Amino acid sequence: MKYGNIIEQGDRSGNGMVVRFRLPSGLDIFGLPTENFYSGNWDLGPTWNYAVMADTPFLVDAGRYGQGQQLLKMMATAGVKPSDLGFVLISHGHEDHDGGLAELVGITSLKVKAHAIYDLLIRQYPDMAPADYKRHFPAKCWHCFMPESFYTVNCLEYHRILQQIEVEAVGSGTDRLCTDIVTCHLPGHSPDCLAIILGEEAVIVGDILLPQITPWPTRLEMYGEIASIVGPMFPEAGQILGLHRYLRSLRQLRRLGRAHPDMQVFPAHRFYYEGRWNVVDLTQRIDELLEHHVQRCAAIVDIVLRGHGRVEEIVQRHFEPSLLKGPGKYMAMNEILSHCELLVDQGDLMETGPRRYEASGTRRFETLTTHLSA
Ligand SMILES: [Zn+2]
Ligand SMILES: [Zn+2]
Repeated sequence: MKYGNIIEQGDRSGNGMVVRFRLPSGLDIFGLPTENFYSGNWDLGPTWNYAVMADTPFLVDAGRYGQGQQLLKMMATAGVKPSDLGFVLISHGHEDHDGGLAELVGITSLKVKAHAIYDLLIRQYPDMAPADYKRHFPAKCWHCFMPESFYTVNCLEYHRILQQIEVEAVGSGTDRLCTDIVTCHLPGHSPDCLAIILGEEAVIVGDILLPQITPWPTRLEMYGEIASIVGPMFPEAGQILGLHRYLRSLRQLRRLGRAHPDMQVFPAHRFYYEGRWNVVDLTQRIDELLEHHVQRCAAIVDIVLRGHGRVEEIVQRHFEPSLLKGPGKYMAMNEILSHCELLVDQGDLMETGPRRYEASGTRRFETLTTHLSA
């Protein structure tokens, strides 16, 4: 299908595309997807950054590290000058969204807005780092599982220049960016996730929900490392982390979709992929994601009931071997652990040792799509 107004045709994954979307009110949004390579079967496709031409025009996200210049080039193709923009807003602190930020700000002096947690977690706290080699990691990367060989090549410079960024914190709850445009804090995929709601006609969702891909949830366990940093603002892990919080965020967003069924959704990955558009119906996609997580909970409980209670056993039995190569193994482990946290929380699993579970016989997770109050 045809979607938007393609100013520049990119490749079949959407890399290099420049697209104008005109909303019914006449508001223009430019889609500016920058390249984003991760290996193997976990390809996300490019990061869709957006220029929103509101009364105060602004940019959402800045692509991966090294993509700042490219983003500026694409903006020029779209006819958007950096001097037209009031600020750049970061949807959440993952490197594929803020990697290009320092470069972009270095060239344009754009003001940066993000959730208050983002501002706290991009900083270094050498004396609080969980391991000596992580002393110069920003707090948001303390839980990173990539091997040393990866981060020395890919991350050190990114971490260093991020320190120069000044951030204007966008509040929790909803916060008005300009006329008719608000941000909404919907954590879970990351503790600082923001959705940007454009009146009653569109929502820019970052990685909160994606077509084709199920965004990975954080784990409550990560709170231990950052509690002293974010604790004054969010004293409980479940307020910003974990699968339970993520599902609540989805349900919050579903209310918006139900109230405004024609709402257009602008996701951060896979919007255009394999040569075609993936147009997202907000309510329908959220129902699919909720169902996906309930099914995954069911599969995990069944594996544990068959006597395989160690997390490694669950991972091996739940995922295709091809998904467990390289970093895939750690992502799979994160998936299972986040579900196990929720199942323990619900009383369906009991933790009988470190990362070892027994099933209690209940299946309370089955009500997760309906009973959670957002
Ligand atoms: Zn993300
Ligand atoms: Zn992403």
